[in-house]
Amino acid sequence: MVKAVVGANWGDEGKGKITDMMAEKADVIVRFQGGANAGHTIVNCYGKFALHTLPSGVFYGHTTSVIGNGVALNIPLLFKEIQSIVERNVPMPKILVSDRAQIVMPYHILFDQYEEERLGGKSFGSTKSGIAPFYSDKYAKIGFQVNELFDEEGLAEKVRSVCAVKNVLLKHLYNKPEIDPEELLKTLHEYKEMIAPYVCDVSSFLDRALKDGKTVLLEGQLGTLKDPDHGIYPMVTSSSTLAAYGAVGAGIPPYEIKQVVTVCKAYSSAVGAGAFVSEIFGDEADELRRRGGDGGEYGATTGRPRRMGWFDCVASKYGCRLQGTTDVAFTVLDVLGYLDEIPVCVGYEIDGKVTTDFPVTHLLEKAKPVLRTLPGWKCDIRGIDRYEDLPENCRNYIEFIEKQIGYPITMISNGPRRQDIIYRESPLKKA
Ligand code: GDP
Repeated sequence: MVKAVVGANWGDEGKGKITDMMAEKADVIVRFQGGANAGHTIVNCYGKFALHTLPSGVFYGHTTSVIGNGVALNIPLLFKEIQSIVERNVPMPKILVSDRAQIVMPYHILFDQYEEERLGGKSFGSTKSGIAPFYSDKYAKIGFQVNELFDEEGLAEKVRSVCAVKNVLLKHLYNKPEIDPEELLKTLHEYKEMIAPYVCDVSSFLDRALKDGKTVLLEGQLGTLKDPDHGIYPMVTSSSTLAAYGAVGAGIPPYEIKQVVTVCKAYSSAVGAGAFVSEIFGDEADELRRRGGDGGEYGATTGRPRRMGWFDCVASKYGCRLQGTTDVAFTVLDVLGYLDEIPVCVGYEIDGKVTTDFPVTHLLEKAKPVLRTLPGWKCDIRGIDRYEDLPENCRNYIEFIEKQIGYPITMISNGPRRQDIIYRESPLKKA
């Protein structure tokens, strides 16, 4: 069977930790979208790791880690990431890369930088990892699939024709040095050597795995609000962040996805520009940022300080709905233990009217938060492993949010380690 771990919000909800934890009972873990532009932070017996391309299941000996066709594959970064974990005594993981995954080219990264420069203050807050130019080329049908590296003749011809197009833009739009197709071909030959041991027909591998009764975990990157269709367009990422896309980005039938674990953080954080209704500022935000996550809320890839806010029931209800949530994993709850009172955003006021439905972007930009304040629990809840042992105000916070979002909170994460998890029977869980 297939299970998905995805985000309800802006990303950084703690999907890495939940995937790493669920990977213990899985056979195959698949990345199905996104690229090295975001990271997952994982703390386990080998130490603390920031993964960008590898699935969060790479730390177990029994799992196969798969890079699906939907991923933006940066080959040298993948290579470096494998080396960096092996250097830290993690056993060499079993890795498979889809022969249909497309390659992030060196010029995608340059185009990302040049475009951000050109847009100046109007930029989309790109991490400049080449992701947007990569997906633009994929859909413009001038991208390169991994299998094309193994077709010498076809590759050389395509490189020359793509370079001709790119060089017009480089010269006339960006005023930057042109690409030498022969240099690029040399780089692609190096990529071929690096990736050759891992290349595989992933959809066929997964088909066999499912027929053999294996458990496959799909690991999402970012969250619903960054989805290019259903997120806060255009402040979104370039590939779908929804569990449904897992079927496409891994190459499996959609009906195989039986469980969708949507990860929701107990407060909000976001990176990049765009509307963020429950955002907080000043000392209040600084304190939450400093105490947040595991060592502060700073981007795993960029180190950028994240924008902070209270839990947003409107955005999370929407985020869970679009994911097709069967279970909510409510994370980083321990961080809120310092607060006397905890505000929660329960509605948006737009043009004088209050709504709990998440609106389209131009209305979202006008939304003001309607806040409800709940009492804090004022203690450290790390180490607690039974739901009944949580302080009453903490349980009330969880149950209040569960009612607001309408999806069952069945897991509560109260620390960054694998074992910091509380399972809960939810009244909303259908038998
Ligand atoms: P992802 O992209 O969704 O995997 O999220 P990130 O890895 O960017 O951010 C989650 C951060 O919170 C990481 O530093 C995790 O180690 C940490 N984390 C995850 N769950 C918990 C938790 O329950 N409590 C605390 N304090 N930290 C957590």
